[in-house]
Amino acid sequence: MPILVVGAGVSGATLARVFAEAGYAVTVCEARDEPGGHCATRIDPETGVMVHFHGPHIFHTGDLATWAFVQRFGAFVPYRHRVEARLDGESYALPVTLTTINQFFRRDLSSDEARRTIAAQCLPIEHPQNFEEAALANIGPALYEAFFKPYTEKQWGRPARDLPASVFARLPVRYTERADYFDHPVQAMPVAGYSALVETMLHHPKIDLHLGHTVTAEIAAGFDHVFWTGPIDAFFGHCYGRLAYRSLRFVHERITGRAQSVAVVNYPARDVPWTRITEHRHFAPHCMARGSVLTREYPFEAGPDDTPYYPVRLAHDKAQLGQYVVAALAQDRVSFAGRLGTYRYLDMDVAIREARSLAHASLAALRRHARPPVFAPEVETCLSAQPVLNLGQIGRKAPQCA
Ligand SMILES: Cc1cc2nc3c(=O)[nH]c(=O)nc-3n(C[C@H](O)[C@H](O)[C@H](O)COP(=O)(O)OP(=O)(O)OC[C@H]3O[C@@H](n4cnc5c(N)ncnc54)[C@H](O)[C@@H]3O)c2cc1C
Repeated sequence: MPILVVGAGVSGATLARVFAEAGYAVTVCEARDEPGGHCATRIDPETGVMVHFHGPHIFHTGDLATWAFVQRFGAFVPYRHRVEARLDGESYALPVTLTTINQFFRRDLSSDEARRTIAAQCLPIEHPQNFEEAALANIGPALYEAFFKPYTEKQWGRPARDLPASVFARLPVRYTERADYFDHPVQAMPVAGYSALVETMLHHPKIDLHLGHTVTAEIAAGFDHVFWTGPIDAFFGHCYGRLAYRSLRFVHERITGRAQSVAVVNYPARDVPWTRITEHRHFAPHCMARGSVLTREYPFEAGPDDTPYYPVRLAHDKAQLGQYVVAALAQDRVSFAGRLGTYRYLDMDVAIREARSLAHASLAALRRHARPPVFAPEVETCLSAQPVLNLGQIGRKAPQCA
């Protein structure tokens, strides 16, 4: 049975690898001229620095099966991610921790005292309806105005009041001095970079990789089954409209010496046009660097020709997604996976876990001479669990995703 995988990011590479190891011949088509998708890394020839071309990527997970899987394709080194915020000439630890709170309020509070101080500032909003209300109910106006509101509004290009409360729930606030950005037990970097890792995943006699090939739904029709990790709305010719994404403009600069004490410095202030600066050499201290590379990130609303980075996922977008999910579930020869195929922000470990789950469920179906599922089982549950928003065009109840 000829299998086509569209996209050579971590989702497509995982699907292809699992099928190849199960004995299937797999064709992988990638629109770009290199594999790796959004995780792509390259060594800058002038400085020797490993550059994360689509934004800083840290592999972190609590899923030991995924961790064991990725380690088959390259060595990793432990890495602890540190982030600072630069505000009014001062550097603060991020996420907001006890250290940040004490520095910001010029105090020396214990953990319990800090909790009580912040609780006294919080607004009594029992059921926050949006990002702003969630922030005011959990950290109060002073920290919100300094660290969260302007940064979030730059990042999303919308008033914080228009964003869902769930966006705030993803931002950690800690009443300890622990400075690591992530909580997961595994936090690491692939020694040779993510592109090399994905290339190794795709290096298999059963995998036929075509770079610089953009697949359309018509081309995909020539295969018995297709795993599509490109945008789900593109597969359907955007027939229900384009799903909204934020894009990023990256401005790279080579410097001599070093500029930052940590890999990423956020700039929450409204009058600074970029959101953050990444200094890449912190990610790969094992690389012999002859200088440094800095990258400033400028978010903007993605147009039809821009790279989609962050799915916006407001109510309107979720309603549109519901229409595409119904259309996807109504056919049986294409499965959708990955951040673009399911229109969700996914960390790499989640993308890999879901791709493996879809691949194994598909192999089990094929053994029964049945069609592979349209989404990984847990993704379909997630997409189906949400209330219906707007399905006028199809006239059927549409599943939604959180
Ligand atoms: C700024 C930023 C920072 C991030 N930082 C982290 C981090 O620190 N840690 C973490 O775990 N995750 C991070 N992520 C998430 C990570 O990028 C994703 O988990 C990962 O890229 C998902 O891989 P994917 O294969 O699903 O999608 P992608 O990497 O987007 O791969 C999809 C591929 O499909 C190709 N494609 C699309 N359409 C077609 C078509 N029609 N024909 C052929 N090819 C096509 C694309 O060119 C692309 O290469 C970050 C994401 C962003 C945006």
